[in-house]
Amino acid sequence: MSDSLHEIDSLLDVLNKFMLPGSLEDCFQAYREELIKIVDKRFNANLQSWFLREISVLRGGEEFTSVVEACDPFLHLPSGCDSLPPGVQIAVPPLPTTIVDSTPDPAGNLKRLARQEFELLRSRLQMYTDDEIENFGKLAVAGYVAPDILLPTPESVVSFIGINAGAKLEQYLINNLHLWKAVPRRQIHFPDMVAVRRKQLEEQFAANNREPLRPEELACYTDEELALIGRDVRILTLLPNRHLSICRWCINRMINRQAAVDHFDRIGTEGNVGPVN
Ligand SMILES: [Zn+2]
Repeated sequence: MSDSLHEIDSLLDVLNKFMLPGSLEDCFQAYREELIKIVDKRFNANLQSWFLREISVLRGGEEFTSVVEACDPFLHLPSGCDSLPPGVQIAVPPLPTTIVDSTPDPAGNLKRLARQEFELLRSRLQMYTDDEIENFGKLAVAGYVAPDILLPTPESVVSFIGINAGAKLEQYLINNLHLWKAVPRRQIHFPDMVAVRRKQLEEQFAANNREPLRPEELACYTDEELALIGRDVRILTLLPNRHLSICRWCINRMINRQAAVDHFDRIGTEGNVGPVN
């Protein structure tokens, strides 16, 4: 690979990490990445991979490459927020620990499954020190965005992670939505992650000796500008503007706009086929 291709390749890595979020789900995910990064950089390099291995055991061998993936506040279901525009507030399902604590459970099924998840994780975590278990708890609290949860003992960490990440309990909850209808969803407020990522991108461009992003390159396209680009994509090669390289929101809008145009074209074409009255 030539030097310039290497340079572009490393810049693409930067873009993958700091791309401007394109939806509410992207923003929330970016926020969680930052929370996890804050706690993770205090730990030794192996801690996160040990943590992911234990979550994988709890989830029947499912593999995870990040805490963002492993500790999913949406119980590994579609969030429904990937088509919403970027924002700073999101409603997520209650944590399974909250559901277990606050839902009437006359048959004791919830408590029994919670106990099983707890026991499974407790037996696994015996090989770790109390400090390492405490740090697992910090990663999980960041992943689930539950800053108010205090986990003062190893037992409390095992309980929090086992119940919130355990696949069997999660499946039981998903199959019995009526059990936790009364438990309110969590409303989570977070910073403007588009602005946060924009600043990080500027820093990364400077660190990689790239020409700084100009103010017009950091601004999102208007609908009119996107319509113009959609009419003739060659405009992109004539504009000295790198915005589409850094903004998932504008890329999504362009794709959606194009899909709508294709759809109406198809309807138009199909409308022209068939017997003429
Ligand atoms: Zn944009």
